[in-house]
Amino acid sequence: MGQPDVLVIGGGPAGLACATALAKAGMRQVLVAEREAEAGGVPRHAGHWGFGWESHGRLMRGPAYAARLLVEAQAAGVTVATGTTVARIEGPGRVVLHDKTGLHEVVAGRVVLATGAREGTRAERLIGGARHPQIMTTGTLQQMVYLKGMVPFRRPLILGAEWVSYSAILTCRHAGIRPVALLDEGQGGTDAAPRWFAPATRLAFAIPTLRRTSDPVILGRGRVEAVRFTRDGRQEELACDGVIISGRFRPEASLLAGLACPPGVILAGNVTGPLKTAGGAAMAGRGAARQILGDT
Ligand SMILES: Cc1cc2nc3c(=O)[nH]c(=O)nc-3n(C[C@H](O)[C@H](O)[C@H](O)COP(=O)(O)OP(=O)(O)OC[C@H]3O[C@@H](n4cnc5c(N)ncnc54)[C@H](O)[C@@H]3O)c2cc1C
Repeated sequence: MGQPDVLVIGGGPAGLACATALAKAGMRQVLVAEREAEAGGVPRHAGHWGFGWESHGRLMRGPAYAARLLVEAQAAGVTVATGTTVARIEGPGRVVLHDKTGLHEVVAGRVVLATGAREGTRAERLIGGARHPQIMTTGTLQQMVYLKGMVPFRRPLILGAEWVSYSAILTCRHAGIRPVALLDEGQGGTDAAPRWFAPATRLAFAIPTLRRTSDPVILGRGRVEAVRFTRDGRQEELACDGVIISGRFRPEASLLAGLACPPGVILAGNVTGPLKTAGGAAMAGRGAARQILGDT
């Protein structure tokens, strides 16, 4: 891995598009480090339509979009190292990463951080009650359904009514799962759904959105049986066999923890928050490439 001109951390839409633009502009050694076994980021496991408009002028399914970004990067001469996790940034251009052969230090001319965002976890959202395997984020559900062909539940409740909750519904439909309802905690999240979201969800999928809810508690012994919550000051309970925790994205910027943003690190895509579309993240990656090219 040695000493690339640019090391891009994260092989999602932002990282791949950034790397492609740099290589196309003549940068010789552009390395993308991606911790997963395949590059592509979130779209790789989001099997529904709706990806790519801003960057490619057409809509694709997530995996097709991810594959296209990867092909473009490789055709431009980018090296994509999968199964490669960046463990820390040690200083300007100096990064420690590990792959199946062990730990390596890389010294790069520039470092781009394109590590995306992650949905708020149950612990961060202070959701009380039972702990069972049928409680998961939208991203985990997508990986189970689209990558592993699993059906973890039949009648889940969706906690959250943000844009990504729509993706949770589409994923459920794909697997023959029928959500009971969406609980909107009405706190906006990072990506609050537009006003038409609740009526459209009810009309198109016959899934009710319950607004102004708070304090969800998951109930059940041995498995999820119901969720209790407060709505308009009263306690209610809905029977379900799983819980999808959706939205409230947080930038995945843990590599910057403790660093005063070392010089040479440029951020691109969802790591800059708030949540972008995949095409928007790719455009941000191209913008980061322009910034680097302008500096050199
Ligand atoms: C469930 C869900 C559904 C969505 N549906 C849509 C949709 O229908 N249409 C749409 O346009 N957008 C959708 N989005 C949004 C879109 O997928 C994201 O905005 C986009 O993927 C962001 O791109 P990114 O490159 O910034 O981050 P990501 O796609 O998250 O990619 C980041 C990459 O960095 C890697 N990484 C992280 N840390 C490290 C590390 N330390 N070392 C090495 N690699 C690392 C990760 O493995 C990942 O591959 C959805 C998002 C989610 C979560």
